[in-house]
Amino acid sequence: MAELLKTLIVGNGAAAIEAALTLRKHDPDTSITLVTESRWLHYYRPKLVHFLAEEQAPEDLVVYDEAFYQKKKLYNVLGRKVASVDTSARTVTDEYGGVYGYDRLLLATGSRPFVPPIEGIQKDGVFTLRSITDAQRIRRYSEHVDQTVVIGGGLLGLENAFSLLQLGKKVTVIEFAPWLLPRQLDEAGGTHLQSLLEAKGLTFLLNAQVEKIVGGAHVEGVQVKDGRFVPCGAVLVSAGVRGDMDYLKGTPVAVNRGVVVDDRMRTNVDGVWAAGDVAEHRGITYGLWTVAREQGQVAGADMAGQPTSYTGSLPSSLLKITGINVFSMGDVRAAGQAWEAQDETSYKKLVVDADAKPLAAMVVGDRAAIGTAQKIMGGKSSPEDFKKHL
Ligand SMILES: Cc1cc2nc3c(=O)[nH]c(=O)nc-3n(C[C@H](O)[C@H](O)[C@H](O)COP(=O)(O)OP(=O)(O)OC[C@H]3O[C@@H](n4cnc5c(N)ncnc54)[C@H](O)[C@@H]3O)c2cc1C
Repeated sequence: MAELLKTLIVGNGAAAIEAALTLRKHDPDTSITLVTESRWLHYYRPKLVHFLAEEQAPEDLVVYDEAFYQKKKLYNVLGRKVASVDTSARTVTDEYGGVYGYDRLLLATGSRPFVPPIEGIQKDGVFTLRSITDAQRIRRYSEHVDQTVVIGGGLLGLENAFSLLQLGKKVTVIEFAPWLLPRQLDEAGGTHLQSLLEAKGLTFLLNAQVEKIVGGAHVEGVQVKDGRFVPCGAVLVSAGVRGDMDYLKGTPVAVNRGVVVDDRMRTNVDGVWAAGDVAEHRGITYGLWTVAREQGQVAGADMAGQPTSYTGSLPSSLLKITGINVFSMGDVRAAGQAWEAQDETSYKKLVVDADAKPLAAMVVGDRAAIGTAQKIMGGKSSPEDFKKHL
């Protein structure tokens, strides 16, 4: 009987699990082990935003129970951070010195929040949100805090700010750009969204660059470069993410902004694949759940010897704040003809090219228009349909 190949997956997020399940579908017998730093079985990371605000057990976020993994013959090693990889010996070593051999290795370590080098950033009371443990820490600390600051007015920053608001805190969002969601909305859209969020109780400082975080051992406020000062007892930094790939230092695996992969999610090193937030495909690191799943499926199929191709995604964004509907897809800076409308409750815009092909859609505050925009951008509806919302 042929010897079974050993597959090792580092991480247990969306990319890792989809890869493992796809590989298992094609190969019922191969040995599959997932080694992860996380103490928890795979969970819905995007739901952390609600987990921060609501009384929920961590188990409520977990996607599959132990019995599922047993049935699929997937072996989880939890609470083990991988420290190094030896691609010649085909081994991976964790932080406690545990060594794991592999025939096929998938790097699916996701990303970590980017923490800008701001003076005072190491003070007690400064947080980022990426894991269940982070959310638990933020909740515990903010029990004794009334005022909080969120650094970053992107999607995650706004969702975090709203969760803190739901916890009864006064929240100020500090954003470097002149308007909110600068990557997803134009100025009119961002300004409209700001007024909706202000009505909910959030405060914003725009065009604002943080100079330092002020206080003794604990945070007492945030000083902005133009002289503005916001007193607060806690700071949540939401300034984007960076691929988690320190453990690859000294290996021949090519990295840039992420681990560089081809259309089959293969790295430049034989027997090593990467997928999800940590992967850089055609120069893009996406940082999106659906993309991580899709890339994981492509990697899993390829590891099973059933190559398929990932050619990239047109990212779309939805804001997860109850009662505030925001959708954006495509290149919002694209030059083209704009079909747009704005009133007190909504802002909507579809950008089309000379042949009326859709290039970008932005909708704030109109659920029906979001549904139509999603269909148009997904190629399931004619751009002309957008006009009924204008
Ligand atoms: C609060 C929050 C809200 C979000 N909301 C949305 C949303 O609404 N829509 C959307 O599309 N995306 C959202 N995202 C992004 C989305 O969660 C990620 O794109 C997705 O989780 C990426 O999956 P992944 O498998 O690549 O990595 P991850 O989910 O990050 O999983 C990586 C795993 O690898 C482990 N790991 C890291 N380093 C090591 C190491 N050295 N050794 C061992 N294990 C390691 C980590 O512990 C982690 O469990 C959100 C993210 C956060 C944090």
